[in-house]
Amino acid sequence: MNPWQSKRTGENCAQLKFIDLKSENQVYRFDFCKKFTYFPENRARVKMTEKIYYHNPNQFDFEAMVIKTIQNENRLGIILDRTCFYPQGGGQPADHGFLNQVQVEDVQLEGEDIIHYVETPISEKSVQGRVDEARRRDFMQQHTGQHILSQSILRVGKWNTVSVHFGDDYTAVETDASSIPSSKYIEVENVANQIIQQNLPVKIEWVNPEEVDRFQIRRPPPEVKKVRIVQVGDFDASACGGLHVASTGEVGMIKIIGDEKIRGRIRIHALIGKRAFTDYDNKLRVVQNLCQIMTCGEDTLVQKVQNISDQLKEAQKSLQKFQAERISVLAQESINEAIPIADVLLIQRIFENTDNKLLKVFVDSVLEKTGRVTVVISKSGDQLNWMAGHSLSRPINLAKFCEPLLELIEGRGGGKPGFIQGGGKKVSGISQFMSEFKTKLAEELIGHE
Ligand SMILES: [Zn+2]
Repeated sequence: MNPWQSKRTGENCAQLKFIDLKSENQVYRFDFCKKFTYFPENRARVKMTEKIYYHNPNQFDFEAMVIKTIQNENRLGIILDRTCFYPQGGGQPADHGFLNQVQVEDVQLEGEDIIHYVETPISEKSVQGRVDEARRRDFMQQHTGQHILSQSILRVGKWNTVSVHFGDDYTAVETDASSIPSSKYIEVENVANQIIQQNLPVKIEWVNPEEVDRFQIRRPPPEVKKVRIVQVGDFDASACGGLHVASTGEVGMIKIIGDEKIRGRIRIHALIGKRAFTDYDNKLRVVQNLCQIMTCGEDTLVQKVQNISDQLKEAQKSLQKFQAERISVLAQESINEAIPIADVLLIQRIFENTDNKLLKVFVDSVLEKTGRVTVVISKSGDQLNWMAGHSLSRPINLAKFCEPLLELIEGRGGGKPGFIQGGGKKVSGISQFMSEFKTKLAEELIGHE
């Protein structure tokens, strides 16, 4: 029987670093550099988790051994001997994915340890890791695109990048500019997209801090033992620990979608890579649907929508005028049919789907002359709007007057002594509300006689 179940190599055969040999449940590693063989699960020998994501950011599947399982503030963390999972850092969010069948929700660099936070415990010593490739590729595009964008902003307006944020929807670059004219964004986009089209190589170099001066880096590097320099051709160089695409063509395109002012500085929002394409695709569908609805071409779409909007405003004005006239006619009719109580006229009316503005026109029309009391209700589905007002010389406080009646329509309301309005929910209570209003008014008026 062949005892060697599988083997694993370094990132390519030309730079073979080690081979892992699996026999039964044991895994042995032969390390060409260190010239010894050991069990990878022996933490004393494996000093640090091997960061495959730095050797090969395009590798998304890997095998690894579990070194340690930790419990960290109710979160379960796994430390591996090697990983393709990028831990959150440098503005780049953590990779997501799976270890065996268990979901990796978060990855953090804590001290020297890369901790994979998982939903459930992993009992196996050996794991198959799989990084969410689409998410990682998206952030590689965002990171590289941000370097290109920051350098383009610097070249167009001498504006420096103060901070960056890689969000789920867009990438934000905070500049030291207090204002940027929108015409400058076209220039910035042109510079950035030319760099993408030139398909310049993106090179990574680890250097000692004293070597940093040989690069024209955009921002001062962090104080670390080794500085990771990311060079975008000879266009841009900056210290960055994130993951990037291999050449600028992979970024696809950069589109500035807007800006905002934060702490007195301009923060630019951009869509980079596939996000820009998806956004174009969405907008194209919207435009095509609108053209179909408006039966016109893209070139006349805006004018056609503008025309329809103007026409609609005119039509709304005419309708309001017509409704106000109709309400005045109804008010006159209602006055003719009013119920006399003592020397007062009570005017009641039930409307359908009539807004408060028109109800008020009605109330104002009937209260033009003194000696009148009115109460109106409009029902829209199971919603009620009501108003009551009077033009009496007597001091009737309508808020107090109506309060005991409100439960009939499950209503509420408020206002001044001479005018109140409110809502209600019980449509079936309208006629009783009106009838009680009349009875109560009669008692009130006769009481004052
Ligand atoms: Zn970067």
